[in-house]
Amino acid sequence: MLNKFMGKTKRVVVPAMEEILEKEFPALDKGFIRLVDYMGGDASIVQAARVSYGVGTKKVSEDRGLIRYLMRHRHTTPFEMAEIKFHIKVPMDTWRQWIRHRTANVNEYSTRYSVAIDDAQQTSENEWRMQSSSNKQGSEEFFPPKLGREFTIQETEVQKYARKVYEKRIAAGMAREQARKDLPLSTYTEAYWKIDLHNLLHFSGLRMDSHAQKEISDYAKIIGNEIIAKWVPLTWEAFLDYRMNAKIFSGPEIKFLKERGIFTNLNLEDLDLYQGSGFVNEKGVLTREGKEFQEKLKLLQGS
Ligand SMILES: Cc1cc2nc3c(=O)[nH]c(=O)nc-3n(C[C@H](O)[C@H](O)[C@H](O)COP(=O)(O)OP(=O)(O)OC[C@H]3O[C@@H](n4cnc5c(N)ncnc54)[C@H](O)[C@@H]3O)c2cc1C
Repeated sequence: MLNKFMGKTKRVVVPAMEEILEKEFPALDKGFIRLVDYMGGDASIVQAARVSYGVGTKKVSEDRGLIRYLMRHRHTTPFEMAEIKFHIKVPMDTWRQWIRHRTANVNEYSTRYSVAIDDAQQTSENEWRMQSSSNKQGSEEFFPPKLGREFTIQETEVQKYARKVYEKRIAAGMAREQARKDLPLSTYTEAYWKIDLHNLLHFSGLRMDSHAQKEISDYAKIIGNEIIAKWVPLTWEAFLDYRMNAKIFSGPEIKFLKERGIFTNLNLEDLDLYQGSGFVNEKGVLTREGKEFQEKLKLLQGS
């Protein structure tokens, strides 16, 4: 029986998502992300939050405020009410990083059961990156095209030879599970990847970050900017504001700011200070977010 406090809910349809269902977004040279299905949207997050907070706000502007509040305060479970399923084609080295996100449901193409996909990711002559001198896990600057051309020619040779050996093994009747062992990591694989929005945003935060490897970041940016932004625009805006473009101050950093008195001369009670910032509403008083900001500034002031 339906709990009367929860109320009836309709299936959420997001027109912008209906338009891109089944669309393949190209990634790298031969990869793609295809939107297979989605469940829910901003409305489901708001609905779930109202279940926990009781009957409340109704207007879109209030929905936006509620979603932003949830994101700011890491009230995460309402974001788990929305889910999405992709079909992706991705090189195995990138997939190896992707699969570390354990909170998704995965079904990958089996190269034990089927012949490995005959596509390998190729790097063009101006895309070879040098090892970063400051970050052991990163890259910086590109090799000059002359050297790059050599790397690309060698890559093609390696890929072609590895494929030839693989196909010879298959032709000889070798088990596919063993024949595949010398295929390069640039070989493409395909998978269905289903994840809820909360965990997808966690993936986006890590893989759209400048520290992520460029290849997986390319995929994450397509998922974020081309798909999530259309699917849950209010949530995406809040995610960019409170996660992606935000920074957390550590304990020692706060201590430093307090001790140096960086904010000492500010009169935090003076509302003129906040004008034009979005922290003051049309009645000229601080919004809830404005008050939270004021509290943070007070903390940094040491008051
Ligand atoms: C820039 C970068 C560099 C990296 N370098 C390396 C590396 O050198 N070596 C390496 O091995 N990995 C590396 N990783 C992978 C990284 O350590 C994580 O495994 C990966 O980013 C997935 O993150 P996650 O575990 O938070 O995500 P998910 O697996 O999606 O989990 C989401 C969250 O759920 C919770 N959770 C999930 N499963 C468990 C569990 N079993 N126990 C407790 N909590 C759980 C955690 O809170 C977790 O944050 C790197 C990742 C990045 C982004």
